[in-house]
Amino acid sequence: MTTTKKTAPRDNGAPEFKKFLHPLMAKNYGKWKYHERLRPGVLVHVAESGDALYTVRAGSPRTMSVDTVRKICTIADKYCQGHLRFTSRCNIEFLLAREEDIDPLIREVRDILGFPVGGTGPSISNVIHTQGWLHCNLPGTDAAGAVKALMDTLYEDFVNERLPQRVKISTSCCQINCGGQSDIAINLQHHKPPKIDHGKMQICELPKVVAICPVAAVRPRRVEGRDSLEVIEEKCMYCGACHGQCPSMEIRDAEADTLSIWVGGKSASTRSGPSFMKLATYGLPNNPPRWPEVSEAVCRILDAYKAGAKPYERVGEWIDRVGWKRFFEVTGFPFTKYHIDNYRFARTTFNTSSQVRL
Ligand code: SF4
Ligand code: SF4
Repeated sequence: MTTTKKTAPRDNGAPEFKKFLHPLMAKNYGKWKYHERLRPGVLVHVAESGDALYTVRAGSPRTMSVDTVRKICTIADKYCQGHLRFTSRCNIEFLLAREEDIDPLIREVRDILGFPVGGTGPSISNVIHTQGWLHCNLPGTDAAGAVKALMDTLYEDFVNERLPQRVKISTSCCQINCGGQSDIAINLQHHKPPKIDHGKMQICELPKVVAICPVAAVRPRRVEGRDSLEVIEEKCMYCGACHGQCPSMEIRDAEADTLSIWVGGKSASTRSGPSFMKLATYGLPNNPPRWPEVSEAVCRILDAYKAGAKPYERVGEWIDRVGWKRFFEVTGFPFTKYHIDNYRFARTTFNTSSQVRL
């Protein structure tokens, strides 16, 4: 007699994605012939069977109310047989089987949701921001607010395809930078070591904080008869990782924190391969609610890129071709000693602890 082995039900991990595919996508899975952009924000994928699947891409603000999500779903139910997808840059892609539904859908996306349609081809893809206040305990700025102000400024470059190549922009609300590599990245920088509130320090947090510091700048210390920590300030590079482990290690400073802009990051392996971004300018005020200095600096980079890049060149590829000297000339950003990466002490300062980082 054979018995069927019972396995414990799984309640974690991503569900099987194929059951969520649009019917045309499921039918033609792996059998696509070509795809093309019909106009800014509208794509078509044509299958070997002759089926065509249309995509309308809209920029979302990432952080949305339940009410807004319901409106998005209602539009998808009406035109897309209930199917849409979110890209990693928080674009919403509505999937349509009928070409005649494209214009009515775009009208509803604009009129009901107020979202712009675009972000395809040589344009600005939806500007992304990191999780920020809603999900993280580290933010030193309101990344979502800075992105809203920036998208208002860059709207025409999102809804038109008029750049040399696609440009990906991100905003990170701390120096840990979970926004990742982007053509243009806006990152908050701290400029002082964390301040320790010894009275609130919990014993359980001590090993976590010691282990997380990438330059081994944190060590245990007895303070007024209690176990606590100290920071070796000469080693600290103000990254804020310790603050993520323990709220008693406060690193945010409304007066000292500033924003910096980095350029030339790329995750894709197309043409020139992936690349790390590099510092363009720093010391921009953390200036809500519109961060005008940040928008001005981003526009300066984009104007120089539009004027100097060849078709298909990403921002980093353009800079590599013309050289960093020329980049600083055409953008007008001052080149300073802080742009030179001359750090040579990794062997003696980087944390070589074998403790597991949490
Ligand atoms: S960038 Fe920093 S503060 Fe912002 S969500 Fe990521 S880890 Fe948190
Ligand atoms: S984790 Fe970062 S901010 Fe904290 S002490 Fe170490 S280097 Fe400084």
